[in-house]
Amino acid sequence: VFGNVVRAPEDPILGVTVAYNKDPSPVKLNLGVGAYRTEEGKPLVLNVVRKAEHLLVNDRSRIKEYLPIVGLADFNKLSAKLILGSDSPAIQGNRVTTVQCLSGTGSLRVGAEFLAKHYYQRTIYIPNPTWGNHTKIFTLGGLTVKTYRYYDPVTRGLNIQGLLEDLNSAPSGSIVLLHACAHNPTGVDPTFDQWGQIRQLIRSKNLLPFFDSAYQGFASGNLDKDAESVRMFVSDGGECFIAQSYAKNMGLYGERVGALSIVCRNADVASRVESQLKLVIRPMYSSPPIHGASIVATILKDRNLYNEWTLELKAMADRIITMRKQLFDALSARGTPGNWTHIIKQIGMFTFTGLNTKQVAFMTKEFHIYMTSDGRISMAGLSSRTVPHLADAIHAAVTT
Ligand code: PMP
Repeated sequence: VFGNVVRAPEDPILGVTVAYNKDPSPVKLNLGVGAYRTEEGKPLVLNVVRKAEHLLVNDRSRIKEYLPIVGLADFNKLSAKLILGSDSPAIQGNRVTTVQCLSGTGSLRVGAEFLAKHYYQRTIYIPNPTWGNHTKIFTLGGLTVKTYRYYDPVTRGLNIQGLLEDLNSAPSGSIVLLHACAHNPTGVDPTFDQWGQIRQLIRSKNLLPFFDSAYQGFASGNLDKDAESVRMFVSDGGECFIAQSYAKNMGLYGERVGALSIVCRNADVASRVESQLKLVIRPMYSSPPIHGASIVATILKDRNLYNEWTLELKAMADRIITMRKQLFDALSARGTPGNWTHIIKQIGMFTFTGLNTKQVAFMTKEFHIYMTSDGRISMAGLSSRTVPHLADAIHAAVTT
């Protein structure tokens, strides 16, 4: 009966790894995956995560009962504090409802389904470009997706004018997706002042901000700094949505641990909103998994473990920043034509190189370097050993 099913294309991001795995070359390099790698090219489980798991395993009082629909209470409280700040008036006023979801993706999806059901505006504006999954998540979640200008290919920076114009002409009430920090795929973030302009416009037009926070702490190495944009929007007393992921900043990718917070006007609204979130979640997956959230809660509630986490997080962020410098220096040393300062200016896991589809295909064919066709490379997939190979490939791609 399924004879007519048409083969679906590979996911454009995950498909890069599929192609990489098939390549027998010993010099092959995968810069497609959005996951941290050590200097040795290996995935990393944080020490602090191992410690937390050890504590959990040895705690005989722990059971495997279902979590409530909204997840682990401690985890939810601590996650809201992490993104909004421990002294957040919104938390103190009980205006925030937080539900544990399946990592960033699941948090975005639950948020989308709630909005499609309970909000009068169904249109969400997402940046152009953005993480490839956003369009699908929001469309399948029941929203209509439109884009706003974000990236300027000429300056390889933010098109703030275009962004403000597009949001200004969005119908009142429209939802606006914002990357809290380390914009994926461009690595281009608004400055603090530009965030101020964006906030003013969003509030004056009654737009609804929906933050995607997948890289808190991973961009600058500082958890508070990377939450500045979100906190700016919450401190004005207005509403907002926040999807948090612990995939990158705690390296919990496969544990699928994240949270959706909705900042409401008052405590009464927040509690009604939460009651409706349960109706979204219950028929979707009933309740979230327990293990990852327990790891996060264990780390966030213990001062020593928390401090240890921040050090490990900073080390990951610093290694990525070092890779940016090394790649920039290697291109400068080769005299590679073009301006490559964006490699050191861009923020977070990715560099949007500016290489075109043809150049990317050339680098894959001739140098066995794998990346998404938009020229995005994961800096976390690089090491001091592999930087020269990448620099050779970029040099060849732009000079042949
Ligand atoms: N948003 C952005 C911008 C991302 O880059 C990612 C991860 N690639 C996510 C959300 C969600 O990831 P996850 O579902 O693994 O938390």
